[in-house]
Parts: sequence; C-alpha cells; structure tokens
Amino acid sequence: MTIGDFFLSISPLAGQAEGGKPFQCSYCSKEFSHLSSLESHLEHVHSGESKHVCDTCGKNFSSKSNLTAHKKIHSGKSSTL
Ligand SMILES: [Zn+2]
Ligand SMILES: [Zn+2]
Repeated sequence: MTIGDFFLSISPLAGQAEGGKPFQCSYCSKEFSHLSSLESHLEHVHSGESKHVCDTCGKNFSSKSNLTAHKKIHSGKSSTL
C-alpha cells in the first residue's frame, strides 16, 4: 500500500454530511475534521510507533514519556536476578 492509496481511502466527502469529521485514521479509527489534524495525529501517534523501543525487553511505545515511565520497572529492584 502506497501513501497515495492511503489518502485515496480517506474519502473527504463521505462523512461530511453526518458528523462533520470526514477524515478518519485508518490505524485507530479516530476521526478528524481537518486533514492537517489527521496528518498531525499520524505523525505523533503512529509514525513514531517503532521509535521508542525499550532496550531491555524490546517493547514498543508510542511516546518517549511512555517508554521512560516503562523503563522504571527495569531500573527498580533487581532482586530477581
Ligand atoms: Zn490513529
Ligand atoms: Zn522494558
């Protein structure tokens, strides 16, 4: 699937009559009233999904703050080792 196919699937006119939020994220189905909002959402929520990886257990996080919070479980007590 190319980026062109992705934008073709957005159908700007389809939802306009109903809720006024014609742009829907194809990843999480969240709706947006402006394309720029959807693009911003994709940029922040989905394009960074693999950028924040825990180097201890390999788990992925959508944001750096989530990863930082997660890492505390590794840097805490290590009595099991
Ligand atoms: Zn989304
Ligand atoms: Zn981890």
